Amino acid sequence: MAPVRVVVIGAGFGGLSAARALERPGVEVVVIDSNNFHTFQPLLYQVATAGLDADDICFPVRAHLRKRQRTRFVLGSVTAIDLAGSTVTIDGRRLERFDHLVVAAGSVSSTFGVEGVAEHTFPLKTVTDALALRTHLLSRFERAATATAGEVDLGIAVIGGGPTGVEMAGGLRELIDHVLRKDYPELDLSQVPITLIEAADRVLGPFDPSLSEHASAALRARRITVQLGVGVASVEPGAVLLADGRRVPAGTIVWATGVAGNPVGSLLGVQLGRGNRIPVEADLSLAGHPNVFAIGDIALPPGTPLPQVAQPAIQGGVHVARQIHALIDGRATAPFVYKDKGSMATIGRNHAVAELPNGMKFHGFIGWLMWLALHLVELMGFRNRANVLVNWAWNYLTYDRGSRLLLPSRVEPTTER
Ligand SMILES: Cc1cc2nc3c(=O)[nH]c(=O)nc-3n(C[C@H](O)[C@H](O)[C@H](O)COP(=O)(O)OP(=O)(O)OC[C@H]3O[C@@H](n4cnc5c(N)ncnc54)[C@H](O)[C@@H]3O)c2cc1C
Repeated sequence: MAPVRVVVIGAGFGGLSAARALERPGVEVVVIDSNNFHTFQPLLYQVATAGLDADDICFPVRAHLRKRQRTRFVLGSVTAIDLAGSTVTIDGRRLERFDHLVVAAGSVSSTFGVEGVAEHTFPLKTVTDALALRTHLLSRFERAATATAGEVDLGIAVIGGGPTGVEMAGGLRELIDHVLRKDYPELDLSQVPITLIEAADRVLGPFDPSLSEHASAALRARRITVQLGVGVASVEPGAVLLADGRRVPAGTIVWATGVAGNPVGSLLGVQLGRGNRIPVEADLSLAGHPNVFAIGDIALPPGTPLPQVAQPAIQGGVHVARQIHALIDGRATAPFVYKDKGSMATIGRNHAVAELPNGMKFHGFIGWLMWLALHLVELMGFRNRANVLVNWAWNYLTYDRGSRLLLPSRVEPTTER
């Protein structure tokens, strides 16, 4: 009998978790991704701030799936989904047939329609975003070194006071204080302004208010201006305009807020829910299509929306694999139950906040050690873990950051052909 074919769109946290759990005799798995690598997004900010290399946080999908006999990888972007015909189209031409489909295409950075965000800010969603931001930052300091004083605005505004914005702001201050001040003795970098802008009345909204307070205090101790309770009206070249009319000048503006479901969701032809996410039933299947599932950032299960973080995607992947096995075996599916494993965010060297599901809270050095350990364990691949550990130890002991290459955008061949 021909194996049951399951197509998984996306090799992120959810897609790979599903693919791993699906593997069993009689099941053929096809994983499709636009990139040939998996990205560990929680450490993107460290790539952007020169603490880690892109290779340290990305892992080739083929290497991950190498030992799985029944799983195949296809590099390409899904451009169409035909639910009636049970096919997906890759890059507008190649068809993949499926018996079951798992949509795990994640989310994309969303501007929320704020004018000027797309043109004048740096998002932080992909490794390309992180490298573009790093290049921009380092280039500005190079330009400032040869310009007249004040000609290049080195100030930075980070929009969004969630974990990404907090980690980014802290990481930027460390990069400037510990590395760039030594690299550019000709510049006075003691007062480079960094402003963190958050529309709510506290940073780290999903955390306990006491941890938000700790985080704000730690940011202020690092000379980061924390601007709370005011939204962004628009962004123009070199400045953020706040809703109350104030203007925050900044040569670099980071957009660290807001994601929306990946546009792949719209290929299903169903009415999308809040944040462009795919509404799914309690078992994570699509209404009227029991063989189609959506998980992770792109999915909107019934009830309170799940946070768009790694754990719902990972747990959702395992859950849908079990439901697909149940369907193959002729059993009924079960609802997805998410187990919250807690939240963490680091503000930088020796400081993080962590909150466990049982209400236990940590901050400062202990929180930071927990943050380091968890991120190392969660990273994919032994080589990546070893590289990250070595880089972190190096950065910690020397106060240095190794990943500061400014690469030309087009490399000319060095030999005649
Ligand atoms: C800067 C940043 C920091 C974060 N920090 C944390 C953190 O500290 N802790 C935490 O738990 N979470 C964090 N998150 C969130 C977490 O990374 C996401 O919730 C998680 O990656 C969602 O998993 P997913 O499988 O739904 O999507 P993803 O992991 O994003 O995977 C989606 C995959 O789909 C692929 N894809 C997209 N479109 C197509 C297409 N058309 N065709 C084929 N493939 C496609 C993508 O290339 C990608 O590989 C962070 C996110 C960001 C951006």
